[in-house]
Formats: sequence, C-alpha cells, structure tokens
Amino acid sequence: MERPLACWKGEDRYEEEVLPSLTIILKTGGCRHNRCRMCSYRFERYSGEVLLESQLLSQLQWVVHHHPLAEVAIVKLYTSGSFFDPEEVPSRVVDMAAQIFKGKLVIAETRPEFVDPERIAAFVSAIDSGDYQTPLYVAIGLETTNDTIRERSIDKGFSFADFKNAVTGARAGGAGIKAYLLHKPLFLTEREALLDMEDSIRGLAGIADMISMNPCTVQKHTELEYYWKRGGFRPPYLWSVVSVLLSAPVHVTCDPVGGGRARGPHNCGTCDYDIVRAIREFNLTADRQMLTGIFDTGCECKEEWERVLSLEKPYCMPLTR
Ligand code: SF4
Ligand SMILES: [Zn+2]
Repeated sequence: MERPLACWKGEDRYEEEVLPSLTIILKTGGCRHNRCRMCSYRFERYSGEVLLESQLLSQLQWVVHHHPLAEVAIVKLYTSGSFFDPEEVPSRVVDMAAQIFKGKLVIAETRPEFVDPERIAAFVSAIDSGDYQTPLYVAIGLETTNDTIRERSIDKGFSFADFKNAVTGARAGGAGIKAYLLHKPLFLTEREALLDMEDSIRGLAGIADMISMNPCTVQKHTELEYYWKRGGFRPPYLWSVVSVLLSAPVHVTCDPVGGGRARGPHNCGTCDYDIVRAIREFNLTADRQMLTGIFDTGCECKEEWERVLSLEKPYCMPLTR
C-alpha cells in the first residue's frame, strides 16, 4: 500500500466546539503552478511514469487501514497543490475520497482556478450525510489581499479578484471557504508584513468563513532560502504573530510551524516555547485573555521587536522598468 506524504490526528475548533481531526497530505502529480518563492511542497510529486490514479487510491486505502475514521469528525485534505485539479488528482480519486469521508466535515485545499461549481456540488452531495450544514470547506492559499505583494513577494499567479470569483463558485456549489494567509513573505519589513496581515484579515472577514495565518518558514531549496542564507530574510517575530491574532476582528487560527527555530517564526529563544504553546492553545479556545496575558508579560526581546518595527526600512523595488 502506498503511504500518503503525511497523515496525523489532531483537534480543530469548529463553531465553538473542539472536534477530533485528521490531516492528510496526499502525494500527487504535483502543483501545476509550481513556482511560489517560498514553497518546497511543490517538489513533492511523483516523477516519471506512474499510474497516478492507482497510487492515489492506494494512499486513501492506507488512510482507511491506519486511522479509524469513526473517531474523526474533521478531515483536512492537502495535496501540495490542488485537490480539485483533475490533472493532479484524477476524478476517480476525488469520488473515492468522497465515499470514504462521507459524513465528515471536509476541508480540501485548491488553487482558485480549479474551483468548478459543478464538481464542488457533486463532491458536497457525495459527502453530505446531513450532519453538517456545510460539509465541505474549500481552502485557498490567498496569502494576502494585496495583489502587489502576492505577485512580487510570492509569485502566486492569481489575483484577489480571482479568489473572489472562486469564492462565488464554491458557494454556488454549496461549500464554505477557508482562506490561508502568509505572514511575512519575501521583501517586506516586519512592520509592512504585520500591516499586510491586519489589512488582509479585515478584508477577508466578510468573505471567508475561516481564516488561518501561516507565519512564513524557510523551506529547503526555495528562493526564500537563497535570500535567508544571505541575510536577506528573517521570519516574523512571534510578537508580530500574536499582535496580529489579538487585533483581528474575527477568530484567526495560526499554525506556527518551526516556531522558535531560525527557519521559523521566532523571538529570542527564551520566550519562544511559551508563546508557540499559547498560540496552539488559542487556536482551540479562542481565549484572547490568555493570549493578551502572554503578550503583556513580555520578555527582554519585546523591546528589540518594537525597535525593529519602528526602524527597519524597506529595500526599494522600482515600480516600472
Ligand atoms: S504555494 Fe501552493 S500554489 Fe504555490 S507552488 Fe506551492 S503548492 Fe503550488
Ligand atoms: Zn524573548
């Protein structure tokens, strides 16, 4: 049996409740866009001649054999690309996933160009058992509502308008929307990145049902890593992350992958562990008082962060050629 790239159990907050979840990262034909500056997931793909459909079906079987689905309420499906791209994930695999995960709350990630209302509606009706009002959430890595930052700092290849069209399409198919934001892509100062997240969350509040913010990590063999190795990039301070979460008008979740490490969001090394733990707790409890407590307690490095926010200057990029 073929193993998925990763598969683990966890917990997620959904409508004031904490539910058991299963996260599955399937190995596929790979992301068709394949060029975001910070992304190494795109390297995770089958190469050469493979029977994509049977490899993927085999991964789904592996999940069924290794994780009793009766214990799980939420299933999060990632592919290092787009679950709804028929070239990346053949439609028989999507149909099989719908059969296997019927009755679950499914969150499946895709780029906006692969949101086809009819395919979404078919998937929704196949997984719907009446347990959830919205059984599918289409997750899209919008990264930021700012088109210039998305284009220049990430090279994402779609606009906020494209995202909003996909939202309309997904809703027409009966799905909800989860948006992923990227905190501090390349070429932004700490303050620019912080303001970009505050703006993006405000701009998304009436559009997406769920918002998750990923602090940028330095992944191997990426353009971002090239700059990081030469001192041209620092992942965001955890103080910035907490500050954004606290100022958000809606509950925003955050997975501080690599938190406290040089390649991940970090502070001074002394306070990092407690802050990362508090962010993980906040995801489930939405307890702002607890997070405010951590923020107010501070650390010697909080002053450094405040200095960086006020002193760091952007490198100018010409607007025209
Ligand atoms: S971030 Fe997403 S869209 Fe961009 S290259 Fe990676 S997998 Fe593809
Ligand atoms: Zn500190």
